[in-house]
Amino acid sequence: MTVANQKGGVGKTTTAVNLAAALSMHGQRVLVVDLDPQGNASTALATEHRSGMPSVYQVLVDDLALSSIVKPVPEMPNLYCAPATLDLAGAEIELVPMVGREARLKRALASFEAGTFDYILIDCPPSLGLLTVNAMAAAQEVLIPIQCEYYALEGLTQLLQNVELVRAHLNQQLSVSTILLTMYDGRTRLASQVAEEVRSHFGDTVLDAVIPRSVRVSEAPSYGQSVMTYDPGSSGAMAYMEAAREIAYRAAALAGA
Ligand code: ADP
Ligand code: MG
Repeated sequence: MTVANQKGGVGKTTTAVNLAAALSMHGQRVLVVDLDPQGNASTALATEHRSGMPSVYQVLVDDLALSSIVKPVPEMPNLYCAPATLDLAGAEIELVPMVGREARLKRALASFEAGTFDYILIDCPPSLGLLTVNAMAAAQEVLIPIQCEYYALEGLTQLLQNVELVRAHLNQQLSVSTILLTMYDGRTRLASQVAEEVRSHFGDTVLDAVIPRSVRVSEAPSYGQSVMTYDPGSSGAMAYMEAAREIAYRAAALAGA
């Protein structure tokens, strides 16, 4: 599942990390692939990501085996992270002349024991460049976090067009399966208006669970933790747990169908 939105600061990384943590706490084997040079997901998952060390960059650019960079997340038995370093910033350009430049991650995942994971979540950078295209080409589903703020829907058309292009040319099975409303501030009318608009547009794709704006959610990464372990009883943790449950139920329903 690719977590994508070309806007920065909408909750992509927070969502990838906390959904992954929530799913793993329910016994699912989960891998987070950090595809953002900022390495925020790696930080939140307490996975080392100094510039120069083997990371997703070498996997994409030098054909390094994905298995050689995947690290277990400390104190999270079923959770693994493929870290990103700042080197990845160069990949966006270095990939351009390469053969199969859009399918480098797909290939890396195919020759990896991807089947041993129940979920692989890919955290995208805030752009629609080659890294995000690689993420979409490699995934079955796209999860779009939408921040409940003004301008939330701006750029969404372009994002959906990109998904369509990837589906048409690179990955027929790709679909936008999930939209998650994030940073919901129940005190503002604007938040509920945005939520309503998104639901009327996208219907069942939108999860019932809504992630509230919560200080605990934003504090957790500085402790190298997800909010799921940092403060399990907090509103943010409970909302991500609920979102994870919905995603798991949907997958089960699809498998049964
Ligand atoms: P993106 O990956 O899309 O750039 P992030 O997940 O990094 O977005 O979130 C942007 C900022 O907002 C971060 O500082 C993060 O801690 C904060 N944040 C994300 N979700 C919440 C939330 N539900 N409540 C409060 N702060 C949040
Ligand atoms: Mg991010």
